[in-house]
Amino acid sequence: MTVPSPARVALNDQIDAAIGDATHQVDQMQLLSSGSSVSEDPWLNDQIAALRRAVETGTVRCCEHLATGPAVAYAALWRPGALACPQCLDTLEPDPGEDHICDRCNRHTPEIDTAVIRLGFVLVTFGACPPCARALGAPEIA
Ligand SMILES: [Zn+2]
Ligand SMILES: [Zn+2]
Repeated sequence: MTVPSPARVALNDQIDAAIGDATHQVDQMQLLSSGSSVSEDPWLNDQIAALRRAVETGTVRCCEHLATGPAVAYAALWRPGALACPQCLDTLEPDPGEDHICDRCNRHTPEIDTAVIRLGFVLVTFGACPPCARALGAPEIA
């Protein structure tokens, strides 16, 4: 979809505002998640830190719908630095090859489940083998 230049500029302003809001939200997430069993996992902490850096530095890629303000957004750990609204979730679909690799331990197994952890308004999804999903305390959604 092509957007005329003036609209593009306005959209960028909105995205900047959304990123500002998201940054604030991510700060809250860090506070909310500290002390929980989830945040004690070094791998997950690294992933969250990377996502947070992407938001803070403005390198996060988000769909235009998220420009309207903080809303439920999905982040997929197999697509670092990307956020999508529920409508654009298919843009985060893993490639067929990635579908069978655990994002946490990199093990190749047919038993990958999509696990999701809620951090503030961001639902962080990732592929996890059963032991990793259990280790993270993440509910598995088939
Ligand atoms: Zn969207
Ligand atoms: Zn694993």
